[in-house]
Amino acid sequence: MRALQLTEPGRLELREVPAPEPGPTELLIQVGASGLCHSDLHVLHLPFKVRDEPLTLGHEIAGTIAAVGDQVAGRTTGERGVVYLCWSCGVCPECASGNENVCRAAGRVAMPPCPGLGPDGGMAEYVAVPASSFVPIGDLDFVAAAPLADAALTSYHAIRGAHDQLYPGSTAVVIGAGGLGHVGIQILRALTATRIVAVDTDPAKRELATECGAHETLAAGDDTADRILAMTGGRGAEAVFDFVGVDATAQLSVRSVAPNGAYRMIGLGDGNPGITAGPAGGPELPWGATVRKSYGGTKRDLIDSIALARAGRISARTEQFALADGAHAYALLEQGRIRGRAVLVP
Ligand code: NAD
Ligand code: ZN
Repeated sequence: MRALQLTEPGRLELREVPAPEPGPTELLIQVGASGLCHSDLHVLHLPFKVRDEPLTLGHEIAGTIAAVGDQVAGRTTGERGVVYLCWSCGVCPECASGNENVCRAAGRVAMPPCPGLGPDGGMAEYVAVPASSFVPIGDLDFVAAAPLADAALTSYHAIRGAHDQLYPGSTAVVIGAGGLGHVGIQILRALTATRIVAVDTDPAKRELATECGAHETLAAGDDTADRILAMTGGRGAEAVFDFVGVDATAQLSVRSVAPNGAYRMIGLGDGNPGITAGPAGGPELPWGATVRKSYGGTKRDLIDSIALARAGRISARTEQFALADGAHAYALLEQGRIRGRAVLVP
């Protein structure tokens, strides 16, 4: 089969490789679509190899069950679904509580095995996945469904975790209206009556944010925090979702979140929010504000995201590419030229 693989740091190649054999507890998925995430770019730019052998990228996978492992019950070939990206142990106290995204087996700072970031991912014709990771999508289109597996899941999880602050009349700031952020705005619209302020450097992404339901948009710049404070009576936004995570956006989050507000760190740009344990005052984090470094989501978050999509309440805007054009699609993503989510179709 053909697979888009990371062969050396920074080098993507479309390679001919053997199709995987599903193990006894696995499913073989015939990939229908596989989304491109900005996280893949972070991996692409690591100065070292993620693993010795070439790695097939792709952690937003939608497809059809092509074969079922011997020990798998309750799944049949031909079922359509997406792959839950936390390949967690399923039995530790966190998994038992439904917090599979912080599975104990992953250790303190790692994440549970994720397709395309350790095990082979979905940018191929076939991928083998744990049977427990398969979540049905009904008749949703594969291209529409693939981004639910991360762009929606991760946004949904961060938003659900800030629910107490998202009361009617509150303000939520979404920084970065890219693959994740443009879905996050729709989830906020579907679940809450908060006022949504989208911040992006790119006018085209601000336009997309408006199309997705943002009430106001702001260009990211030196005065953005002051403008958010001006819009909120000097108090700040009850929730700030940073889908970028560079120094500027992390510091914007700290400076624009309200007392008792929720600052959610989702973007992985290595940004330093500059939080200190000093007293309140000045541009520092206000009293009561919480910071959460939010990873992925729970399987329930994925199920809920799929339900929102099936109900027509959220829909990822997608740009479709052939598997063979994967490297080109990543280049466009890196240049900020993808509107919504890029998705590869094998
Ligand atoms: P993307 O490239 O599709 O979107 C990024 C958006 O941010 C673009 O609209 C861009 O114009 C905007 N932007 C860039 N710099 C900005 C700035 N300084 N101020 C305001 N806006 C700015 O990326 P994506 O796929 O949506 O991923 C976003 C981030 O989330 C990445 O860092 C990715 O690694 C991370 N991520 C985290 C998790 C998690 O579990 N925490 C999951 C998936 C992705
Ligand atoms: Zn991702």
